[in-house]
Amino acid sequence: MTIPVGDAHSHTNPVRGLGAAKIAEKFKESGGWFMAIVSLSPWAYGIEFTGIESYRSSLDILARECMEAEKAGVKTACLAGFHPADVDRLIDKYRMKPEEVLELGLRVVEMIGEGCREGFPDGIGEVGRQHYKTTAERVLISELILERAIEIARDNGCLVHMHLENAGPITARLVDIAVGRYGDSELKKRLVFHHMKPSHAVYIDKLGYPSTVPGTPELLRNIVGRIPPVYMLESDHIDDPMRPGAVVYPWVMAEHVQRLARKAGEEYMYRVNVDNIVKVYGVEPP
Ligand SMILES: [Zn+2]
Ligand SMILES: [Zn+2]
Repeated sequence: MTIPVGDAHSHTNPVRGLGAAKIAEKFKESGGWFMAIVSLSPWAYGIEFTGIESYRSSLDILARECMEAEKAGVKTACLAGFHPADVDRLIDKYRMKPEEVLELGLRVVEMIGEGCREGFPDGIGEVGRQHYKTTAERVLISELILERAIEIARDNGCLVHMHLENAGPITARLVDIAVGRYGDSELKKRLVFHHMKPSHAVYIDKLGYPSTVPGTPELLRNIVGRIPPVYMLESDHIDDPMRPGAVVYPWVMAEHVQRLARKAGEEYMYRVNVDNIVKVYGVEPP
């Protein structure tokens, strides 16, 4: 039988890539039932950067993409954010002052929070800290935007997808200290550690947070059945043929889930691909 596969963190790009309609169609053919679609930075969609308006335009594209995926028969959660790499790009390429970038990032996550309260999008993402070396003040700017996003998530019922540095238990501990100032165990359930190493997923679960691990064929082979099913899978597919950063195609991930289900057991795969998704995203199971 076919295991329903959930992609808990993915991107679609109707301007440069396939777009949500095609992706959802291919994903569904391989068993895909759910996809969390996370918006890209405005320039990835070819939007000229003019300030907060550009992020508002990204939000419009995200809304259309989520509708397309739903039309193709895949359930969605939709998240829009302010990626930590935007902090560097806005300073280096768009020549903004660090203080202007901080101000913009805070306004963007506030705008998204207002949306969450009104019903779209479902959450803020990606926000977090750079996974590469950058200057101290840029990391701090990113951290403050992340903390504001957590506060907004508490007040508006948003999810958050956190892009972090993957430095081991300290990564989760640093977030947990910040969350302790804003929320409780109920809020934690909506704060997703995205792109985590499988070994950290177990630790993060113990702290009370959900996480996603990349569903690459190699990683899947190594973790499925070996670590407890406390994580969700993500493709983190960026849908841009010009950028080789695509981790894995969602439909390739889904095909591997089907293959590995024989080894790991259907129950294990259901926990990862259905139960955990239903718990975090509040969607009806397939
Ligand atoms: Zn990320
Ligand atoms: Zn991503």
